[in-house]
Amino acid sequence: MGGPFARSPREHSDEPLPGFKLAYPMLAADGASCGFSGVTLGRAHVYRAVDDAICAHGSRHACPSRWCDCGFYCFHEMGAARDLACEPDHRSAVLLEVAASGRYRRYERGLRYARQRVKTVRVGRCECGRPADLLADSGAGSVGWRRLLPVCRNCAADRPVLSPDRFAELAGGVQVVLEGRPTGLGPDEPTLAPAEAPAEDPGAVALLSAEVAVLHARLDETLARLEEVQARLDELTRRDRP
Ligand SMILES: [Zn+2]
Ligand SMILES: [Zn+2]
Repeated sequence: MGGPFARSPREHSDEPLPGFKLAYPMLAADGASCGFSGVTLGRAHVYRAVDDAICAHGSRHACPSRWCDCGFYCFHEMGAARDLACEPDHRSAVLLEVAASGRYRRYERGLRYARQRVKTVRVGRCECGRPADLLADSGAGSVGWRRLLPVCRNCAADRPVLSPDRFAELAGGVQVVLEGRPTGLGPDEPTLAPAEAPAEDPGAVALLSAEVAVLHARLDETLARLEEVQARLDELTRRDRP
């Protein structure tokens, strides 16, 4: 062992390792099955819910190779995948929870690995900002596959759509979760609600106005008293001077 050509220890896991990633949901041209495609590297390739990585560059080596960037990728943390989903290019992607196994290489923020099982598909928002309930034909795709787009019922209108349940079934039994309102921007959420809700109640307004008047009166009294005391203090200090 050792020497200049010693390999870095290659890691292998029979135990599935949890990970998170973005993908585009895909529907086969014949409508009989669903899969996923990558949002960056390997965009042209569609993988199934349970699949083995193949080299994105057409090489025949086993993935992941030390000398190539191919293989499945995932983040260790869901937050990292959610952050990536905010980029305009990735707004129509879905978030996958996966189990990674086989040969893998570890990175600071995630893994590159050989075998993957998609467990959960998290569908976010429609392009209009409302929570998405359905998957519509996006108009994009690759040979043999149409790319699907998460849409709300309003925007779906009478377009042909796939329900989340049907997608789950055609993908081979993954779980699909609709979670279009993850943070901050919901109409029901307190961040956008008026801060002074009682102001709409006329009784409360009268009560608060009265309290404000009392406080002003007290403030005037206090200021008058302050002036008085200050004047008295000035007088005394002046008198004590030689
Ligand atoms: Zn490769
Ligand atoms: Zn919409």
